[in-house]
Amino acid sequence: MISTPGSVLGEAMEAPPAAPMVGDLNDELIKTDVWTDEMVQRAGIPIVDVPFVTCGGGMGSFVLTDYLRIAGLDTSKIRILSNLEYPWQTYEYLTRVSQIPRPERLRSDSSGMPDCIWGFPSYALREARKEKTLKPIINVLTEPVLADYWTPRAGTVFTGLEKESTRIRYKDMLVTGQVRMVRRRSNGGYFTILTPPPGTTATRRVAYRSQHVHLAIGYPGLKFLDDLQEYRTKYKDLARTVNAYEPHEHIYEGLLAKPGTVLVRGGGIVASRVLQRLMDDREQKGAQTEILHLFRTYYSGRHNKWGLAKRRGAFGFAFQGFNAPKSAWGGQHIEQMLKLEGPDRKALYDLTGGAHTPYRKYWLDQMKRGRDQGWYKTYQGEVTDVRPGTNGVVTTIKQKNGTTATLEAQIILDCTGLEADIREHRICADLLDHSGVGRNPLGRLDVAPSFEVRGAQSGVGRLYASGSATYGGYFQGVDTFLGLQLSAQRITDDLAAQGFVPRIGVGRSVRAWWKWFRHKPI
Ligand SMILES: Cc1cc2nc3c(=O)[nH]c(=O)nc-3n(C[C@H](O)[C@H](O)[C@H](O)COP(=O)(O)OP(=O)(O)OC[C@H]3O[C@@H](n4cnc5c(N)ncnc54)[C@H](O)[C@@H]3O)c2cc1C
Repeated sequence: MISTPGSVLGEAMEAPPAAPMVGDLNDELIKTDVWTDEMVQRAGIPIVDVPFVTCGGGMGSFVLTDYLRIAGLDTSKIRILSNLEYPWQTYEYLTRVSQIPRPERLRSDSSGMPDCIWGFPSYALREARKEKTLKPIINVLTEPVLADYWTPRAGTVFTGLEKESTRIRYKDMLVTGQVRMVRRRSNGGYFTILTPPPGTTATRRVAYRSQHVHLAIGYPGLKFLDDLQEYRTKYKDLARTVNAYEPHEHIYEGLLAKPGTVLVRGGGIVASRVLQRLMDDREQKGAQTEILHLFRTYYSGRHNKWGLAKRRGAFGFAFQGFNAPKSAWGGQHIEQMLKLEGPDRKALYDLTGGAHTPYRKYWLDQMKRGRDQGWYKTYQGEVTDVRPGTNGVVTTIKQKNGTTATLEAQIILDCTGLEADIREHRICADLLDHSGVGRNPLGRLDVAPSFEVRGAQSGVGRLYASGSATYGGYFQGVDTFLGLQLSAQRITDDLAAQGFVPRIGVGRSVRAWWKWFRHKPI
């Protein structure tokens, strides 16, 4: 695991208190799986009662909170425990460093709208109206046959989120701090332990006692490839081996000032974005960068047959419009997934997942020019060694035909990994050790179709989870806007079935949409 500036990715390390403080976790609490109210009181930790707590405060917490508010839950009944100031903070950080600033387009489709549970009017309609053009609508109507998938600009999504968070009074529900753990309560429900920012409370911890808890804690952390991590640790060279999710603007600036060679590793969308930036700088700003591109798996044609379909591939890349097949958001794919358990479910994930990138003509044309002019070269192989060389960092690879090759570059840009094991996240590790929670076939949190975390039920209380921590469950598109919406819808329905919130039926939905359309606060 590597850390990123601030605390937006995964868990921030808690600062130790300057002096021993009252109201902290003690041995009794740490060792006991199910807590009584008296145990928490004995530790001097103040208890705050609130019916519903969501931990994370990123996009997943926002989307669920939006649903619950639309269903009619009052702000006083919800607390969002988060180390973020606003829900899209981590997301914007990740998109910006991986080369999607606000004017650039995202990967999701026109109706994946985290700021509008109805998906209407879609982002394409919004853009058409704002920019007085029919282009986005024609694109959506003819994609993917006559045009590449239309996707919204990052800035459009952030502006919408800002508006909606004001409308639902998101700030009134937000409590800043670091969530340390969630434990079951002997009388039902949960205690969520929050470490507030230093100096803001008299005690080191505060316990939120709630009936239900929702977790949307995003990615456990960045994960470097093992060989790069070893290189960084052994040679203390953080400047020449960079993960694409670390801030690395200085690299592009350096390459504009002085020609150099970059080795890009990975074949997913982040690699595509980074390549676009390197190539744009070359073609539009005069950089003289030589690009070496290393794939572990190299696709040169159609592959991964599924029914009658096969995924497209070329020049190393596997092509897929979104980060799960489009069918994953509905219909037969969901029905099929619901019937699969264990290795069978994993097999379908293996077939349709992996690293892939959207097919975009702009990128393909750019790479072709690079290949033709000799400044973009691709390789396939397993890395066997990374060490400092005379003119940069030398990567030795074993190629498919058994021969070795050495690639020397001034910079290695790792575009492979964001996801560490869920145990790297303290909340998940604590749940695995103390709350009867299990793992799904891909090793993440095992959730039911309702997104309830299996094994963690506590009397009338339910623990729910959404986002990447649940990838590998019955619904493949969990780590997407539409996926966060689908999980929020299922959780809200489950809570409604228990009588915790009113059901969002047709009448309520139509009235709520009309309010949303007119930007009326709720
Ligand atoms: C570069 C990139 C581009 C993407 N583009 C798209 C796209 O175009 N379309 C799409 O549909 N999806 C996209 N996704 C996927 C997904 O929609 C986003 O990652 C989304 O932000 C996931 O929401 P989340 O709530 O799970 O995580 P986040 O939005 O990251 O929120 C979780 C937050 O919880 C907080 N947290 C964690 N632990 C604690 C703790 N102990 N205490 C307090 N707070 C804590 C952290 O601040 C963390 O960031 C993209 C993902 C990435 C990385």
